[in-house]
Amino acid sequence: MKKEDLIDILSDETKNDWLFKTANQVRHEYVGDEVHLRGLIEFSNICKRRCKYCGLRSPNNSIERYRLSAEEILRTAKNAVELGYRTIVLQSGEDDFYDTDKMCEIIREIKSMDIALTLSIGEKTYDEYKAFKEAGADRYLLRIETTDEKLYTEMHPGVNIENRFDCLDNLKKLGYETGTGCLVGLPNQTIESLSHDILFFKELDADMVGIGPFIPHEQTPLKDSDKGDFWLALKVMALTRLMLPDINIPATTAMETINPNGRLIALQSGANVVMPNVTSTEYRAKYEIYPGKICINDKPEQCRGCIENKIKSIGRTISKDYGFRKK
Ligand code: SAH
Repeated sequence: MKKEDLIDILSDETKNDWLFKTANQVRHEYVGDEVHLRGLIEFSNICKRRCKYCGLRSPNNSIERYRLSAEEILRTAKNAVELGYRTIVLQSGEDDFYDTDKMCEIIREIKSMDIALTLSIGEKTYDEYKAFKEAGADRYLLRIETTDEKLYTEMHPGVNIENRFDCLDNLKKLGYETGTGCLVGLPNQTIESLSHDILFFKELDADMVGIGPFIPHEQTPLKDSDKGDFWLALKVMALTRLMLPDINIPATTAMETINPNGRLIALQSGANVVMPNVTSTEYRAKYEIYPGKICINDKPEQCRGCIENKIKSIGRTISKDYGFRKK
């Protein structure tokens, strides 16, 4: 599909049913009916950046900040392994407390638990990414957020989009399974720019793509903006499945936040991954990138049981393997 085709489908509501059905079929043919679960550990909400949409942005003084010690991270990881996860995702704000040595030590310890490891800790240098890879990290998630340079610059004070592109290129070069994605519904974002985002995922040959609706956070400059549209986010996701049939695509938590059935709908419209939270209950509410985040009062074992039942209810199964992309 070319840009014009993507724009055409994104702007035509009558094509929605066709799109979701086709994406579901393509998902079934290329990656099968298994759903891969990734246990998400939100290990620090401290962040030096000022992304205008994100509740963790450094100028937000109204959240209580936390940082898990290496021991706490490893305990959480071990618990996730015991619950049956085959992948752990370590996510945080951009927190320089965890320098390269500390991160590499944590990575090595987690990798000794026989589990695939994904990092989602923001923009780092080539050498840092290289060190993490050598320590054993398998995958990296870094959403481009938007490929629209003007909008990107507006949303991310003090940084530039070229560095984000360079980071993604470096991750690919270093042999990471590289995940990216975008927000849908940022103020002044256009259908045309969303079509560019999809073409960018293809050009990068992303191994994973996470799409989520923008949800305004009270303590950010975008507090009065409209939230993103669930169906538009779903369409961007479904088109991504058509463009990259064999990749891993999560049914995102943000989708479930704005639609009570969001993840199951996504799993039936092209997605094949879910990332349940395995962070201990005392920290969950504090990792408030957007408000209304689901499961903040649940324990890791509850999240696991709940999502397993939901997945089985739509006739899908839980994968027992690491869930790498199979080209
Ligand atoms: N610091 C890491 C992790 C960021 S949190 C990094 O920079 O990659 C993970 C994702 O949450 C972000 O990539 C962003 O797309 C999403 N996010 C942040 N604020 C959001 C909001 N208000 N609504 C919806 N999604 C949001």
